[in-house]
Amino acid sequence: MVGIPAIDLRLAGERPEESARLQDACERLGCFRVSGHGVPAALQAEMKAAVRALFDLPDEAKRRNADIIAGSGYVAPSPANPLYEAFGLLDAAAPADVDAFCARLDAPPRVRETVKSYAEAMHELIVDVAGKVAASLGLEGHPFQDWPCQFRMNRYNYTQDTVGSSGVQIHTDSGFLTVLQEDDCVGGLEAWSNGRLHTVKHRVQCVAAVPRISIAMFLLAPKDDRVCAPEAFVDEQHPRRFKPFNYDDYRKLRLSTGERAGEALARMAA
Ligand code: MG
Repeated sequence: MVGIPAIDLRLAGERPEESARLQDACERLGCFRVSGHGVPAALQAEMKAAVRALFDLPDEAKRRNADIIAGSGYVAPSPANPLYEAFGLLDAAAPADVDAFCARLDAPPRVRETVKSYAEAMHELIVDVAGKVAASLGLEGHPFQDWPCQFRMNRYNYTQDTVGSSGVQIHTDSGFLTVLQEDDCVGGLEAWSNGRLHTVKHRVQCVAAVPRISIAMFLLAPKDDRVCAPEAFVDEQHPRRFKPFNYDDYRKLRLSTGERAGEALARMAA
């Protein structure tokens, strides 16, 4: 955590110097911690318990969490990431989709309530963070409310024997912005800002013999699926670096080529 700045979201909307710190974190590092986010600690703890309950379901139930788009559903342990498994929910911004996710897994009523409240709170948060990042760059009134969101609940099945090994291989996230509970906050900002904002490469290493839970919300792409840096980021000194592309195509390309650490972006070069 050393060197990762903490941004107070309450101040970022009000004080230019906090907004400037946010901009600097996005351009230089591609990640920051947030405080003043308004997601109650009790809800975060309840959600972790709910996620543990979902991972205790039998394999047959887990596999009912099918993909909506490539890679959006249940991820079983694999040769590349043998310690990692995850549930995925798309679109976490749509209450009906959250209900459908819980219904398919036959989740108990208490778990459903928690997942619903948490998804709502995290959606509000990610829209708020995205708006403040945009505002820090001088983009006012940029709407993120209707962008699809993917919600991912991760479990790392660590044991004594796995300490020192990889939890998840090095990668970048494919969407616009990620908010993560229980870890730092990572983003995929580069393609969206004509290279102005930094996409952070990250991985997970097993450092202790205890199962690890983390919960991520990904703000994926505009509703029309079109990724194109705003005109405000393009001028003579900064020619367009990426041609406009469909987010879904980029996501499929990452999966089909195995290029998970941002290499696939080179194929989108203008
Ligand atoms: Mg990631």
